[in-house]
Amino acid sequence: MNDERSRALYDRALSVMPGGVNSAVRAAIEPYPFFVQKGDAGHVIDADGDRLIDWVMGLGPLLLGHDLPEPVQAAIQRTASEGPMYGTPTEVEVDLAEFVARHVPSVEKIRFVNSGTEATVSAVRLVRGATGRNKIVIMQGGYHGAQESTLVEGDADTPAPSSAGIPHDFAKHTLPVPFNDEAAVQEVFDEHGDDIAGVLVEPILANYGIVHPVDGYLETLRELTDEHGSLLIFDEVITGFRVGGLGCAQSRFGITPDITTFGKIIGGGFPVGAIGGRADLIEHFAPTGDVFQAGTFSGHPVTMAAGLETLTFAAENDVYDHVNGLGEQLRGGLTDILADQAPNYTVVGTDSMFKVIFTRDGPAREGLEGQCEAGCTQNPECPRFGFCPKNAGDVKRAETERWRRIFWGKMREQGVFLSQNQFESQFISYGHTSEDVERTLEAYKHTL
Ligand SMILES: *Cc1c(COP(=O)(O)O)cnc(C)c1O
Repeated sequence: MNDERSRALYDRALSVMPGGVNSAVRAAIEPYPFFVQKGDAGHVIDADGDRLIDWVMGLGPLLLGHDLPEPVQAAIQRTASEGPMYGTPTEVEVDLAEFVARHVPSVEKIRFVNSGTEATVSAVRLVRGATGRNKIVIMQGGYHGAQESTLVEGDADTPAPSSAGIPHDFAKHTLPVPFNDEAAVQEVFDEHGDDIAGVLVEPILANYGIVHPVDGYLETLRELTDEHGSLLIFDEVITGFRVGGLGCAQSRFGITPDITTFGKIIGGGFPVGAIGGRADLIEHFAPTGDVFQAGTFSGHPVTMAAGLETLTFAAENDVYDHVNGLGEQLRGGLTDILADQAPNYTVVGTDSMFKVIFTRDGPAREGLEGQCEAGCTQNPECPRFGFCPKNAGDVKRAETERWRRIFWGKMREQGVFLSQNQFESQFISYGHTSEDVERTLEAYKHTL
């Protein structure tokens, strides 16, 4: 493994970009991130010419992998060659909006924006505008992008900004609660119910280790918001069009949120976000309503074409069967390896997401019979149930330093690119093969 070009590029980057990167998480790889030259199906080739099996996939957007199928490729090229954008609507925006409304049960209307962050910013403004209330409930360890209302830590009694530059006066309107804790969210509603505009939640915590909801938790959020006249926002920026196929995680769990935020896959690899939901709610956005929302690049034709053709390709081909099948194979293989080599660790993920959490405690080796076979789904019958992470605090208590400082680098030496820390999810794409899975399992076997 050679790093010369990556090191030289990072050296240049440090002179002109803070930390040498354009997104803070990219600098998490130490001592410096490798630069990518190009992608190839389920692999990337780094700046020094080394090939890696890529389970990061752009941190979520690349459902189809790096080689886009011909119709997707062609639509992107054609749209770009006709002129980048216009400041007036184009047909492809309507096509993509219709596609989403047809497949996602809770979405009647949708507005496209340019990032997941912009989607959650707009969604929070929307629910505040629609209810006339200020407070937002979020989950500790949930991630909704780099925005003022959600970069908040602590608990509901003592919320505080988690970043410099956010006034305490903003943070006080945000109420963080632990995921999967019904009593905690009940208590917050008992105390603040009349002031809560909405609950903003990833249906599966996917930026903090991948934590599956326990039975009944999302139902509780639905009931509490209904009871108190608050709105339920599912942040499906990661899970959208990945978990539960084209119906998204909400169809998997059978819960209908009032508002859904999208991003990542819905733009087919180009910058995107979207806010969808019931027509009467989405119409609070200007120009029909009084919640201002606008964007020069929103509904960008190239992005819309990439998103539409990606999702159409997924609808007409075996994309979800393929990625979810590899997911089962990968998570099942990891479960077997851990039983042998690291019985304390927990395999998490569903569909085409996976991760191994380096949990410190687990059932005795002899007691593993009957455990979840392909990733933790919070099954109360599983012998691991009392040990598997239920919220961000549980994930944080894992051996996160071992994961980051030792495990990640050893996997890279074996040609496997995993996400940069213990918290971020990893993704399977249509470009991956069974052989990629086998080689990755071998690498885990050697490394764990
Ligand atoms: C990635 C992500 C965001 C932010 O999206 P950006 O496009 O990076 O701004 C918001 N919510 C969730 C759940 C995400 O995973």
